[in-house]
Amino acid sequence: MRFTPEKCCPRCHAPRALCYCALLPVIDSDTRVSIIVHRSEFCRATATANTAHLCLPNSRVFPYGRAEESFDMEALLSIPGNALYLFPEPYAETLDVTLATAIPRPIHLIVPDGSWAQAKRIHRRVPALHAIRIVQLPPQGVSRYQLRYAHEEHQLCTLEAIAAALGVIEGAAIQQGLQGALEIQVERMKGKRPRFTNRAE
Ligand SMILES: [Zn+2]
Repeated sequence: MRFTPEKCCPRCHAPRALCYCALLPVIDSDTRVSIIVHRSEFCRATATANTAHLCLPNSRVFPYGRAEESFDMEALLSIPGNALYLFPEPYAETLDVTLATAIPRPIHLIVPDGSWAQAKRIHRRVPALHAIRIVQLPPQGVSRYQLRYAHEEHQLCTLEAIAAALGVIEGAAIQQGLQGALEIQVERMKGKRPRFTNRAE
């Protein structure tokens, strides 16, 4: 499902009748979150990076691979904070509470968005990213993301990965808030219109 301005909400990219912007919680975080979004994920109603961005005022999206807008690595690196790059490379350190507690705040969490292969390629092709400490999540439960099938059931979507990382860095409440946002998106994109309550209230 692709975003078309006439038919879809310009913020959440859902068909206008299913817009869920008003239902999303606004979640303050000390951690700055930067999401590098591969062009294949840009403006897709089923993509979850944008949903994370809509919920987190302290976040920014960096488009990658778009012809009309070059990847702004300089702006990414200018964001203050101790940078962590979230990606499950074999040599990545595990982002658990012990590791997170030892890192001076604020943390700048950088998350690539795209297929696993696309995310891996982004890291390989942007040498400036290589200087950034790489972390991966501790083992997670089954993904609740049902819009597109993950290769394995424990593979998380981008919003779940950000939620889990912020859960480790800042606590369970922020993780639950973001997971609530994902449930809203999933239900809407399955075409249902159940009565949601605004979880921010
Ligand atoms: Zn919307």
